[in-house]
Amino acid sequence: MADKPFRLLPRLSDRNRHFWQGGEHGELRFLRCEPCRSFIHPPQPVCPDCLGKQLAPAAVSGRATVLTFTLNHQPWVPSPDHPYCIAIVEIEEQRGLRLMTNIVHCPAERVSIGMPVQVVFEKHEDVWIPLFEPREDPA
Ligand SMILES: [Zn+2]
Repeated sequence: MADKPFRLLPRLSDRNRHFWQGGEHGELRFLRCEPCRSFIHPPQPVCPDCLGKQLAPAAVSGRATVLTFTLNHQPWVPSPDHPYCIAIVEIEEQRGLRLMTNIVHCPAERVSIGMPVQVVFEKHEDVWIPLFEPREDPA
């Protein structure tokens, strides 16, 4: 579709499908360790906190904070929106639960560290890519 930027799509597997297809249900999902309740990303077979193997996908709120970001001015791929913002966000539910993503629906020069954001999904084929847009905090 012409209105969406080009994206490199992930290869789906049983281990990551919950993450890339949660957007179909409007949910950002991570593996969660049943015994210790830690969210785990990227997906792996064993919980790094307690070495537990009882992991199941669970949805988070989709609320996050911009930890760090960079503006990409280089048109590596054909895309209408340059510059765009590549960011690492920290998910609200758990310190250290981080995602590399793009900040969208916001001029790149307005993005700042500590900015509250929320997930939005961009569908490509059978993948829902989690991106983040600015979030208005209720005062
Ligand atoms: Zn655990």
